[in-house]
Amino acid sequence: MVAATMRGRFAPSPTGRMHLGNMRSALLGWLQARAAGGAFLLRIEDLDRARCRPQFLQDLYEDLRWLGLDWDETPLIQSERDSVYREAQEKLEREGLIYPCFCTRAEIARAASAPHGLSDEGPRYPGTCAHLTTGQISERARTRAPAYRFRAREGEVRFVDELMGPYVQDVQALVGDFVVRRNDGVASYQLAVVVDDAASRITHVLRGDDLLPSTPRQLQLYAALGLPAPAFLHVPLVMGEDGKRLAKRDGAFALAELRARGQPPEHVLGLLAAWSGLGDGSPVTLPALVARYRTDALPREPVVAREALLLDA
Ligand code: GLU
Repeated sequence: MVAATMRGRFAPSPTGRMHLGNMRSALLGWLQARAAGGAFLLRIEDLDRARCRPQFLQDLYEDLRWLGLDWDETPLIQSERDSVYREAQEKLEREGLIYPCFCTRAEIARAASAPHGLSDEGPRYPGTCAHLTTGQISERARTRAPAYRFRAREGEVRFVDELMGPYVQDVQALVGDFVVRRNDGVASYQLAVVVDDAASRITHVLRGDDLLPSTPRQLQLYAALGLPAPAFLHVPLVMGEDGKRLAKRDGAFALAELRARGQPPEHVLGLLAAWSGLGDGSPVTLPALVARYRTDALPREPVVAREALLLDA
C-alpha cells in the first residue's frame, strides 16, 4: 500500500551533544518532508542505555527547536518499546527465522575465515550456533545468556538509493546471520529501526551513509515481517579536516558551542545549506531553504567541515 502522504523522520541517539553533521541530517530530513508537504517525525534511539543521558535528550530537543526544525506527533522513544520489538521477534521465531547464539566476540573472530568488508561490523558471523539441538541450547543457556540472530537470506539484496543510486549487497556472504537481540537483552538497532519505521508509516528514510551497508539487512527484515519498506536516501557524512567523520566529541562543531558564541540560526543554516549543495554559505532562513530544496543538489561525496568557516559563518 502506498501512503498518501510522504512521511520522513530523524532518529538520533542522545549519546552526546549534537554536532553540525547530525544537524545537517536533521535539516535535510526535515526539508525533504516539508518540501513535499509531508510529515516529519522524531524518534529517540536510546537503546544503548549506558551511553544515552537525559541531559543529551533535552539538549537535542533544544537544538532542533533553536534551528526551527519542528516535528509532528509524539516522538517514539525506543527504550519504552521493547514489547513491540519482542512481538516482531516472536513472529520471526515462529517462522524459524531466529536462533539463539552463545558465541562471544572473541569466538566469532577466531571462527571467521575471511576478513570482513564492513567497517562498522565485526567479522562475518560464520553460523556457529545456526543448527544447535534443543539439548545443546538448554545446556549452553545454563552458563551464558544468548543473543538472537536472524537467518540472513542468501543471495544479493538490491535497492536504488535516492541519492547514491543502485546498491547491492549479499548479506549472508558479507555479514552472515545478524543479531536482532543482544545478549544483554536489548533489541538490536537493525530490528528496532525496522519495527519503528514501519509502525510510524515512514515512507522516506534520509540518513548518513554510514548506515548504507545496514540497509540490506533492514530490507531483509521488512520482507520477513511482511512490512512495506520505505525509500532510502543516504547522504555522505560531514568530515573533519583530519579526514575523520565529525563525532559528538568534536566540541567545535557542537551546535551548543555555536549557540553559546551567539551565532544566529540563519548563519548556521547557511553553513548547513552550503554543505548540502543548497547555498553558498550566506545566511538563509528555513522557508527559503524549503523553496530551494532539491534531492539532486545533495553532494554525493563527503563534505569537509573547516573550522575556519565556523568563525565567520
Ligand atoms: N540512531 C542512528 C544514529 O544516530 C540513526 C538511525 C537511522 O537513521 O536509521 O546514527
